[in-house]
Amino acid sequence: MATLQLKQVVKEFGDARVIKGVDLEVHDREFVVFVGPSGCGKSTLLRMIAGLESTSSGDIVIDGERINEVAPADRGLAMVFQSYALYPHMTVEDNMGFSLRLAGVAKAQRREKVLAAARILQLEPLLDRKPKALSGGQRQRVAIGRAIVRNPSIFLFDEPLSNLDAALRVKMRIELARLHDELDATMIYVTHDQIEAMTMADKIVVLQNGLVEQVGSPMELYHHPRNLFVAGFIGSPK
Ligand code: ADP
Ligand code: MG
Repeated sequence: MATLQLKQVVKEFGDARVIKGVDLEVHDREFVVFVGPSGCGKSTLLRMIAGLESTSSGDIVIDGERINEVAPADRGLAMVFQSYALYPHMTVEDNMGFSLRLAGVAKAQRREKVLAAARILQLEPLLDRKPKALSGGQRQRVAIGRAIVRNPSIFLFDEPLSNLDAALRVKMRIELARLHDELDATMIYVTHDQIEAMTMADKIVVLQNGLVEQVGSPMELYHHPRNLFVAGFIGSPK
């Protein structure tokens, strides 16, 4: 079970208010996509949920508990970044197990969890390789594997496919949808790509300039955009 609520969440960097009072509910096992133009605040909002940025005001609530002051590692979530940030000197197996090692998980148990994740991601034959011997798509799968081993109830993805070529992006979209089914997890996925939003989301959150413009299913937003901004971004062209 993992539901997430944002209540009037605000983020200020100095004098700049970049998140201006966001309210949002994410249900258990939902695949929610944050979409909006560059600079609208998608990454900042995701980083606040992850605990990598503090919240200037408002509440972040997971399963009924206010977590504003809970450390990132204790929030039950895992984040996958756009730049895979794999350790170049470590094998795939060690990269995937690294956070478990930091958490003091014993070697045998680490290996078990890494193998289970590698099976799901079809990385088993690559466990002994170093990142430089992997393709872009394989590296991104390792980055996702690093999140899976922690068994999070919420996955946060920040534009995870934007470094991949178009064909691979399509393939990875399908893999992520399969993962979402298999892992029974809540997923929040940030993108500026309308096609990703339309094809992957149960629910789309359209952001502009630090505010939520509209929330709805892909079809709702497509057929009933609330305003010209949403229409221009994902609505029907009429
Ligand atoms: P997006 O991910 O939608 O492209 P971001 O969340 O990265 O947007 O940025 C939203 C706004 O906040 C931008 O105007 C950006 O310049 C600003 N911003 C992000 N991080 C910082 C920071 N650490 N200090 C100051 N301003 C920031
Ligand atoms: Mg961003």
